[in-house]
Amino acid sequence: MELYNVEKGTGDMQSQCSTGMSCAEPNTLVAWYKQYRRALPWRKTKDPYRILVSETMLQQTRVETVIPYYRAFLERFPSVFALAKANEADVLKMWQGLGYYSRARNLQRLAQEVVDRHEGRIPNDESRLCELPGVGEYTCGAVMSIAFDAPVPAVDGNVLRVMTRYLGIHLPIDKSSVRRQVRDVVAAWLQHVSPALLTQALMELGALVCVPRNPKCTDCPLREGCVAKRDSLTDVLPVKPKKKPRKLVDVFALWLETEQGVLVKQRPNEGLLAGLWQLPAAERDTGEYEDSSAEIGRILDILMKELTYGSGTFEAVAEQAASYGASHSDPIGAQNELWDADATPQLGEVMIGEERHIFSHIEWRVRVYRPISMNKACRIALASCIMGDTGPYRWVPRDELGKLAWPRVYEKLLSSLTGLPI
Ligand code: SF4
Repeated sequence: MELYNVEKGTGDMQSQCSTGMSCAEPNTLVAWYKQYRRALPWRKTKDPYRILVSETMLQQTRVETVIPYYRAFLERFPSVFALAKANEADVLKMWQGLGYYSRARNLQRLAQEVVDRHEGRIPNDESRLCELPGVGEYTCGAVMSIAFDAPVPAVDGNVLRVMTRYLGIHLPIDKSSVRRQVRDVVAAWLQHVSPALLTQALMELGALVCVPRNPKCTDCPLREGCVAKRDSLTDVLPVKPKKKPRKLVDVFALWLETEQGVLVKQRPNEGLLAGLWQLPAAERDTGEYEDSSAEIGRILDILMKELTYGSGTFEAVAEQAASYGASHSDPIGAQNELWDADATPQLGEVMIGEERHIFSHIEWRVRVYRPISMNKACRIALASCIMGDTGPYRWVPRDELGKLAWPRVYEKLLSSLTGLPI
């Protein structure tokens, strides 16, 4: 990999890029960047670990949101070694509120692999860097160019917007041919200036000037050659891909609290919000059920029964069955009897909280219900969820809920339900 030689300076303004365009643009862009760039914390370093952390956090997330997370994360995990040996729960807790939690898990896997296979040094070689967990084409380009000053393009949404406008590309930006065309032009530009500066200049231009609505073309260093400005197409370009409608999902969560604490559940290690904590809940696609109190009661009742039969240990159920006066030698039979004997199979519940959360592809409406009475059956059902330290369920004292990592929507709900910081 030929690295950019800073001794060469910024190249010949009149030279021709391999794309046939004048190379004035990258030079002008870099000059603009040096004058107008924001003083962001990750711009004070060339440490590839710190660049990687910032680039990972910045995916799908605004700069202002990322700054405090970046500082706190690096204070807690100041090196690749510290992150590699951290508890996953601690890593997720530091990420709480940033969303897209697979990024945090991948970052830790990456750190572990860098320690195990690369002696703790993030590879400065494109092919080895790209093989690491969570490092896609964009992140690879960003780290290679910003940390190692290597001419590897980093094309994110901002850069795509700037370049499709500048080049006048009328195809939807999710087409691979569009990305390839943009990459080729950026790659050619990278040959003429410092890759670290040009990559950041393009990102900064997209963030400050060539913004999605009403770009500030008169302040733009690319205005002389920009097709969208020349042809008044800034409202038309970039051409967005057609969006699929978001799926609406209703989440019915249970607030179950005994002297042992609040019953919480860890989400599976794969999929949406992997590894985060939530209240026990049932999910239904909106429209797939009748939104009546009777139907919601039925859904919650099924959930309670699932808690009873799906997660309990025989010994825990036996112990609790005995403590509530069930004399059966078969505690599961005792449970069944208690459920069946309950004249009103539905427990009866009251809604105590509601929040919505929009993900990229689905929208959640989370409603939290509390059973009106913790009757015998209910208490035995709950007792059966004592799982020690291994299962997905825990009874957690109220004032310790904040130690777990929660999705944003639960963070809001639990803060308002307990009055405690989560
Ligand atoms: S001139 Fe306007 S549309 Fe073109 S790149 Fe600059 S800000 Fe974007």
